[in-house]
Amino acid sequence: MRGRGERLERVLAERELDRMLVTDLTNVRYLTGFTGTNGACVCGPGIRFFFTDFRYTERAAAEVEGWEPITVQGDWLAAIAERLEGRVGIEDDHLPVRTLEKLRGKLAEGVEPVAAGSSVEGLRRVKDEGELAAIAEASKLADEVWLWSVERGLAGRSERDVARAAEARIRELGGDPSFPAIVAAGPNGALPHAEPGEREIGRGELVVFDLGAQLDGYCSDGTRTYATGDPGEEGRGVYEVVLQAQLAALEAVKAGVTGEDVDAVARKIIDEAGHCERFGHGLGHGVGLEVHEGPRLSPKSDDLLAPNEVVTVEPGIYLPGKLGVRIEDFVVVAEDGYRNLSTLPKELTLVE
Ligand code: ZN
Ligand code: ZN
Repeated sequence: MRGRGERLERVLAERELDRMLVTDLTNVRYLTGFTGTNGACVCGPGIRFFFTDFRYTERAAAEVEGWEPITVQGDWLAAIAERLEGRVGIEDDHLPVRTLEKLRGKLAEGVEPVAAGSSVEGLRRVKDEGELAAIAEASKLADEVWLWSVERGLAGRSERDVARAAEARIRELGGDPSFPAIVAAGPNGALPHAEPGEREIGRGELVVFDLGAQLDGYCSDGTRTYATGDPGEEGRGVYEVVLQAQLAALEAVKAGVTGEDVDAVARKIIDEAGHCERFGHGLGHGVGLEVHEGPRLSPKSDDLLAPNEVVTVEPGIYLPGKLGVRIEDFVVVAEDGYRNLSTLPKELTLVE
């Protein structure tokens, strides 16, 4: 976690803040390394305080480096308020209004909370080498689980059975699912976030299979759409359009382009095929400690891509009542392109 407090200090200087109070646990983990469920930290010029309670004193001693640990007994907010001064950035996108009001009541005169949400999330976008290694391992594990799942066959099993078996396999291989796996066959595939149900997967259906693993806190995310036998002319046609959109969008990924630019490449191809209304989500998102984080790749995103950001590229077409296709790769942005972490083939794969 070395250097992350220093990077946050620079953000504070830019925003003319004297202190930053970080309460979101994922952000606390990112800055300090702490993996427990109760922690907060305060950062300022040369100032690093980490707060937890007695349950986590030992864990904090083992995990947290470079931050002065404070085990709070009694009034949590009072202990934090004591260490705040001047203009204090708070994570207004995470801190409940009620907690903020209580905190205000404990602040010394002249201490002023200022909305500074997304400060740490901004730092989290660009990954360091250790983070990239963890993400690549998570991605590799997920790829193994797709292959394992498909070997067991899809047709004749329920969506839920396939999804739960895949999640169990991720755990057997030492990870955790980074989100509940999505297995959506036939008409269910038209619901981009379908919950796997009891429906039995039939023959000649397209099966959207969205899966992610988490290792050492870092997530992967990817989707393949398989066919349980020939999905028919319409199915094959839709698959081909999504594949062309996905390949073209990948080629547009590089440092310095906006999320909107990359999204537009895929969207144009899908529009031209007559499916503009059927691609109802953004093209992709950043992935890291959380499976959805910045930057965003979508029609409204002015996020500029930077080297070592990790993003998904996942166009889809969803025909209500009929079928869905989504193809999602997971890539590291480079100066003049990208490095694809997804290793699975993308041409339409027929499985039993
Ligand atoms: Zn995704
Ligand atoms: Zn996904």
